Amino acid sequence: MIVIFLGPPGAGKGTQAAYISQKRGIPQLSTGDMLRAAITAGTPVGKKAKAVIDAGELVSDEIVAGIIADRIDEDDCRKGFLLDGFPRTLEQARMLDDIIAFRNRKIDVVLALQVDENALVDRLNSRIQQTKDAGGEVRSDDNVETFRKRLEVYSTQTAPLIPYYRDQGLIADIDGMKPINVVSAQIDSVLDGLS
Ligand code: ADP
Repeated sequence: MIVIFLGPPGAGKGTQAAYISQKRGIPQLSTGDMLRAAITAGTPVGKKAKAVIDAGELVSDEIVAGIIADRIDEDDCRKGFLLDGFPRTLEQARMLDDIIAFRNRKIDVVLALQVDENALVDRLNSRIQQTKDAGGEVRSDDNVETFRKRLEVYSTQTAPLIPYYRDQGLIADIDGMKPINVVSAQIDSVLDGLS
């Protein structure tokens, strides 16, 4: 099962992606997590990505597509995988189509998490507070200014993927304004209907 998860920053993709991954036994491939790991490890990709991420902009299509292409060739992706944070531009979506077709596979569904954008800044502020309260480290791109930039980048570059995939009949709309467990239940019913 190949699932793509689309939604604006702060919409709760990470939480739901972890749930799906655990329940369906497929890995969650988060380009954001992979890039942050590359930054921590100080790899050449990480060095290029750091300033771009901190500015709320997007890392190049070639870099992220390359990371994903390598990752899905690993054994644990044979049964399927969940993409979280990729594709994020139409060019990435086209690259992904090629990557998948080359491997004789197909995308099963694109979950589009719909949220009211006004709620997102509030959610960000509570995420920052909770992380601080728990003694954790707040992500360097989790501040209101960079977040607004990420939202703008989402609307201009990523939101066009919804009509792109809707035309292919792949979109399942998910109401992301509901409580976490209700959102999970909506996703379950979509994924149960696939197999
Ligand atoms: P969020 O979903 O909260 O915006 P992510 O962890 O998915 O956060 O991504 C954090 C940052 O990593 C993005 O703002 C961007 O700079 C970079 N990034 C992640 N995925 C991609 C991608 N597919 N293409 C380009 N840049 C990406």
